[in-house]
Amino acid sequence: MNSIEHFGKVISTDILIVGHGISGLSAAITAKEKNPALKVLAVDKACVGFGGKANKGGGHISYIPEGAEETYVEYHTRNLGDYLNNQDRLRRYAHSTVKTLDKWESWGVSFRARDDAFQAHPIIPWKMFVVDLDMLIPMAKHARQAGVEFMEKVAIVDLLTDGDQVCGAIGFDLVTAEILVFKAKAVVLANGNQNWRVMRMWSSSRGEGIATAWRAGARMRGAEFGSFVNMISVEHFQVSYGSENAMFNAKGEFMDDRADLDGNLKDTFGGADLGGTQSISMYKQVAAGNGPIFEDTEKNDYPSTPQGMNIVPEVGRAADNWFRPFAHKWWHLLWEKNKMGGYKTSSKMKEVAPGFIGEFGPVNVDDNWMTNIKGLFASGDICAGGIQIFGAVPAPPGRNRGSGLIAAVYHGIHAGPAAADYVTGLEKPGQIDPVQLQALQEDMLVPLYRSQGVTAAELTWKIQCIMTPVPNSALKREDRLKAALAETLALKAELPKLVASDGHSLSACIETKAMVLCAEMFFRASLERKETRGWHIREDFPSRDDSANPYWVDLENVGGEMAVSRTEVPLNHYVYQPG
Ligand SMILES: Cc1cc2nc3c(=O)[nH]c(=O)nc-3n(C[C@H](O)[C@H](O)[C@H](O)COP(=O)(O)OP(=O)(O)OC[C@H]3O[C@@H](n4cnc5c(N)ncnc54)[C@H](O)[C@@H]3O)c2cc1C
Repeated sequence: MNSIEHFGKVISTDILIVGHGISGLSAAITAKEKNPALKVLAVDKACVGFGGKANKGGGHISYIPEGAEETYVEYHTRNLGDYLNNQDRLRRYAHSTVKTLDKWESWGVSFRARDDAFQAHPIIPWKMFVVDLDMLIPMAKHARQAGVEFMEKVAIVDLLTDGDQVCGAIGFDLVTAEILVFKAKAVVLANGNQNWRVMRMWSSSRGEGIATAWRAGARMRGAEFGSFVNMISVEHFQVSYGSENAMFNAKGEFMDDRADLDGNLKDTFGGADLGGTQSISMYKQVAAGNGPIFEDTEKNDYPSTPQGMNIVPEVGRAADNWFRPFAHKWWHLLWEKNKMGGYKTSSKMKEVAPGFIGEFGPVNVDDNWMTNIKGLFASGDICAGGIQIFGAVPAPPGRNRGSGLIAAVYHGIHAGPAAADYVTGLEKPGQIDPVQLQALQEDMLVPLYRSQGVTAAELTWKIQCIMTPVPNSALKREDRLKAALAETLALKAELPKLVASDGHSLSACIETKAMVLCAEMFFRASLERKETRGWHIREDFPSRDDSANPYWVDLENVGGEMAVSRTEVPLNHYVYQPG
């Protein structure tokens, strides 16, 4: 049998962090802090300081002020998590947000108006301020100073395992297509969630980390909730922030986001949230002949709020304590570009549509952010659904704006040290099996050896067409879910025809495979939950089923097949019960 060097360049590390977005950086810094003697290597498809979503978003940060934690836990559990959140984990999170901010700020990020944070929710004691969007650059600098090593333009494809223990990963250099074999005692997957590349600003998350974990045998949980929707302008296809509160149908009637919903559905939701219920109302209005739907831009007060003034720069410049130079420039450029490509009309009424985002992050982890595979940890968006801190909502930001960044940092500062402790206490590191390595390498490279077939772009378009329609992913019903699953499985059968010509198109093939896999997970889990709960809205089961204990829907890879099962939520053990 060949030595592992035969398969590619071998790189050894104690901890391999996959993805150096905000969660990967947080994990890398804190792993190194926990045990400076360990080698911590963070690899990413993108460049250090520029990968992932944190630097492309709104930069809103929400936190729970000290003393208000329990009010938040109760409200979230009853209204948003809908009793599927692990209440102990949510409580620990609520008690940690201020400490998380302190730690994060100590890495040199530029917070704005932290001392002037405002009340951002009518009920939850939940405060909001902002961070400038260049935040990853000081974090990466801090990580380098702490001794973290980096590799850029590297795609990680599969994990190497020895029995039930992780021992490395295989991937390739995106530029040269050189094969890279990583020997690692622990791996932290921090490579984002799945957004199916529908919305441009979310397109860096293509679910490969979820697929990587799945192929190695990791369990998924809460996959039925990954169908986040935002309101977008049809003129430029970007998010129309705040439009959800200022929507009118074609008859000029104001659209209350719950007015069109059946009684039970209306009662199930709570709190101020984003997009989900509005998308269903829009769908119903359009189906009833009342479309299209418009935003009355004069009634949308978001752009003139302190945080809005950074995102919609044409309304002015935010006050000095809120002003973020980097974010201002970024959003200004984007707005100018949108004007060039859109804004066909100067009317105050702008047509809006549901923009499918996804935020699908079902990798299941325990209290130490470890998956069911020893030494395999997950951090950030990839496990934001599977960790069940927030329950029946898509991965952050889910239904609370401003929870994605802080949650990603919170995950990192726990997953990193947990991985360091694991490696420090590890008696017998796993050994790479050349037979497994060879099989994974062949599977990874096979699209390069085909001369004809289908391209990643063709299949990506098809899977987007299955995921995007509101009646498939937001308002669910058994017959439609089954039809969508059947279409997804038909695409799965086409995956063995994928062709690639270089490192970049090979990466696209791997991403497309992940998109199809994640769609299958979403539809199978959605079929299993025969009730309406939180973000999971079933037309055929419009009520929450309180006749038995709530359950989590789990997915497991049994010999290549997707096995669906339920795990009862230990509700008796928690403080809050329905009713
Ligand atoms: C438009 C937009 C607006 C947002 N607004 C806000 C907001 O205002 N407030 C808020 O709190 N949150 C917001 N969010 C969410 C927030 O940005 C994310 O929750 C957070 O950045 C997730 O961090 P992460 O590190 O887990 O994942 P990511 O940021 O997705 O990072 C994952 C990294 O993994 C890399 N990667 C992926 N696959 C591989 C692979 N196979 N091999 C190697 N590397 C790989 C990627 O290149 C990337 O760098 C917004 C997101 C978007 C897109």
